[in-house]
Amino acid sequence: MAMKTGDAFEAKELPEEVKATLPNVYVDDLLMSLKYFIDEDKAHLRIIDQAVCARCEYKPCLYFCPVGVYTQGNDGRIQVAYQSCVECGSCRVGCPYKNIQWELPRGGFGVAYKFG
Ligand code: SF4
Ligand code: SF4
Repeated sequence: MAMKTGDAFEAKELPEEVKATLPNVYVDDLLMSLKYFIDEDKAHLRIIDQAVCARCEYKPCLYFCPVGVYTQGNDGRIQVAYQSCVECGSCRVGCPYKNIQWELPRGGFGVAYKFG
């Protein structure tokens, strides 16, 4: 059935047998181990046209970013906290209108992952 404007997305519970196969991974703990080298002079992410966002029905950017970079302000505009980006690349494909300009941070900036 097609969704209508104003319909809420309904989160579905995973079956217990599927949950039992999942590893115990706590994203918050993983995020604690990251280091950020923030480029205060140049944002590597930006909304190309806020007018397109205003017409975007479901605003999936508010949901697909694993660290909540995109939020909607009281004025309805999409805000971009690029400083928290973990460079997963989801917003390169997740915006249905290709309305997010995405590039890697300049050399020496961005997120640093610790392995091991
Ligand atoms: S998904 Fe794209 S067009 Fe829609 S609100 Fe987010 S950035 Fe704007
Ligand atoms: S690249 Fe990933 S972490 Fe960064 S803003 Fe896009 S979805 Fe969020």
